[in-house]
Amino acid sequence: MRKFTSDIDEKDFGKEIVLYGWVHEVRDLGGLVFVILRDREGFAQITLPKKAVDREMFRRARKVRRESVIRVKGVVKAEEKAPNGFEIIPSEFEILNEADAPLPLEVTEKVPAELDTRLDNRFMDLRKPRIQAIFRIRHVMLQSIREFFDRHGFIEVNTPKIVSTATEGGTELFPITYFEREAFLNQSPQLYKQTLMAAGFERVLEIGPIFRAEEHNTIRHLNEAVSIDIEVSFTDHEGVMSYLEELVRYIHEKVNERCGRYLEWIGAKVEIPDTPFTRLSYDEAVEIAKRKGEEINWGDDLSTSALKFIAEEMDGYYFIVDWPTESKPFYAMPHENDPEISKTFDLMNGWLEIASGAQRIHIHDLLVKRISEQGLNPDSFGFYLEAFRYGMPPHAGWGMGLDRLVMAALNLPNIREAVLFPRDRQRLVP
Ligand code: ATP
Ligand code: MG
Repeated sequence: MRKFTSDIDEKDFGKEIVLYGWVHEVRDLGGLVFVILRDREGFAQITLPKKAVDREMFRRARKVRRESVIRVKGVVKAEEKAPNGFEIIPSEFEILNEADAPLPLEVTEKVPAELDTRLDNRFMDLRKPRIQAIFRIRHVMLQSIREFFDRHGFIEVNTPKIVSTATEGGTELFPITYFEREAFLNQSPQLYKQTLMAAGFERVLEIGPIFRAEEHNTIRHLNEAVSIDIEVSFTDHEGVMSYLEELVRYIHEKVNERCGRYLEWIGAKVEIPDTPFTRLSYDEAVEIAKRKGEEINWGDDLSTSALKFIAEEMDGYYFIVDWPTESKPFYAMPHENDPEISKTFDLMNGWLEIASGAQRIHIHDLLVKRISEQGLNPDSFGFYLEAFRYGMPPHAGWGMGLDRLVMAALNLPNIREAVLFPRDRQRLVP
């Protein structure tokens, strides 16, 4: 395999190597030219003393445009002042593809750019080590999520994203044309992962896109997000909450273990949260918000301003539990002793919701009743309801937004920073 800049160490000193990459910078000192080559993993200094290298090559290197793609062959020399402590004196300097000028976006970050301009030119923006690092960490998060659930005996599945029914009512749906019929993009794999409990899978994991026609523009909503979903049979909300907090801790541990250099590029520190996470009841949460001046009635969803008040008293990750049954989707199980309250939870990080979950209703008739009570038509849930009639085990699960988790773990100011090509009300390209 070819070497990245980060693979080069003392063992290579005095040896000839080949590097591929982009021209990050050219520094022309007259009799001496430095070309900074950038690849996925870092930088290398290519040093061309006029007197010591081929003349034609010297001219080519000196005039090469920034962001051109190059191949360099040369001998590695120790050089304290260069990135990673080495330089390369080239015997070959090949321009594989010359970049146009001027550049649509500065990769060196010498000129600051607005988020919109950056996203318009995302392929350039992603060349910045600081930005690329986010996606290297996101990769490790996905890897550790799969690792964690594989160890716990989960089956990873893929369910349809083109569906005929709304998961939780109609407002946030994207309708599409499906031959002669209307169909929708799936808001969540909820109905399918529950159906798989009836299928006897017992523990499933799905990592996939969810689509929400959120009208408003916020720093935490996208119209296409990636959701980590689990569903587990023969357990309750507490059972899946412990998977969730252990997972979150595991992810943070693995990011720390495997992403040291990428965290350095971002200048971020990832603190490993202690488990178990604090459980704050919905009642207590409302109490805090009220005390701080929020106008809120019992039963209301917690607004962003309420959550910001609550976050003043809650550090890092915590759960808000026991939500009013009315405020949660129809499939949430009410408490036996107090059906106004449900066996539900949200995982929070400060004011940001990261995940929502619940013990589910597994009793057919109760489910039909709850669907009707929420103003939905049980007839449109045909395939789903059938699964509850012939042996549905008790079960629980949750859905966690991966993009939100990346945002929280790395303390990013906007969810769009955590996504390669974000989709929002204004943005469908690139
Ligand atoms: P919010 O109240 O923040 O809009 P929600 O309660 O509508 O979120 P859920 O239906 O509970 O969202 O979805 C489970 C998880 O999926 C959320 O906790 C969040 O992490 C993620 N998620 C949901 N909608 C979006 C979205 N529009 N953009 C990004 N992530 C989302
Ligand atoms: Mg939620």
